[in-house]
Amino acid sequence: MEFDLEKIIRQNVKSLKPYSSARDEFDGNASVFLDANENPYPTRYNRYPDPHQKKLKEKIAEIKKVGTDQIFLGNGSDEAIDLLIRAFCEPAIDEVLIPQPTYGMYSVCAAINNVKVNEVKLSPTFDLDIKSTLEAITSQTKLIFLCSPNNPSGNLLSANRVIEIVKNFDGLVILDEAYIDFSESDSFTAKLKDYANLVILQTLSKAWGLAGIRLGMCFASQAIISVLHKIKPPYNISGATQEIALDHLNDCKRKMENVNEILFQRASLAKGLASLKSVTKIYPSDANFILARMNNAKQVYQNLLTTGIVVRDRSNVLLCDNCLRISVGTPLENQKLLEALKRI
Ligand SMILES: *Cc1c(COP(=O)(O)O)cnc(C)c1O
Repeated sequence: MEFDLEKIIRQNVKSLKPYSSARDEFDGNASVFLDANENPYPTRYNRYPDPHQKKLKEKIAEIKKVGTDQIFLGNGSDEAIDLLIRAFCEPAIDEVLIPQPTYGMYSVCAAINNVKVNEVKLSPTFDLDIKSTLEAITSQTKLIFLCSPNNPSGNLLSANRVIEIVKNFDGLVILDEAYIDFSESDSFTAKLKDYANLVILQTLSKAWGLAGIRLGMCFASQAIISVLHKIKPPYNISGATQEIALDHLNDCKRKMENVNEILFQRASLAKGLASLKSVTKIYPSDANFILARMNNAKQVYQNLLTTGIVVRDRSNVLLCDNCLRISVGTPLENQKLLEALKRI
């Protein structure tokens, strides 16, 4: 299928002149900065942060094995999702396609931008159904959102099915890999060079344990990334976030040990859940949470709340009747959960 980026960029985005910050217009060496109305007295954060996040991108490029010009950083992946919709979807005209059930932000961002959402059902094992997905593409479909490992089901989508969709669509396929570091599978980042219409989302919020600093990563061709840079708020990543992110990215070992511990706990939690009478099915997980089917999810959810334990009730979601989504916690947290479930 012929992919032409120029054809899918919104006309106003194509023609707009981006905001040019003081730091955009000067990029050399200087010692006196009187260009940005900053307060000259140091507070550690009195200066505006690097709008291009150069150091941070160099580190991420090294870890992810992509070019620095193939990286967009957002205030969480949520900002990248919003900007992708705003860059490529004409409100009230264009459409996005979202296989369900999945992460709710894609639909919410589309709705905020007045972009129509078309939905298609994942298979009973929460994998892509190629035929129905391709049939649901219309002449107005600009983006398809895929999530692998998928939230709330926890499974990876089959890689060959993802590729099938990418190959047979002339818009962008956004592959959200928020949980990829908990899976056995390689990221699709190595495939970016083969598919010009592939966009990958990752985040520091899960495996890196940094949900509080809000740093989402978007990987794609240099051409797609430059469109996002054109429309982003100039200082979208705070100085504090850039510093903390860099600090943690320099310690891959700590992150790997942390992920391994969570994987160990995931296995033990799954075993504990499987032994309970109230649990009828545990879905296999490639992420840091488990989808579990219960006899009466709503009641279990309410009962857990009375003991001070919060899980995610997904029982109203497509294909998830009577299901709760449970994040893997510390050994003590998991034990408290299992004990509370035993008493219910
Ligand atoms: C948690 C999660 C994210 C992370 O979003 P951030 O804004 O980066 O915190 C992205 N996608 C999915 C599917 C998630 O579950």
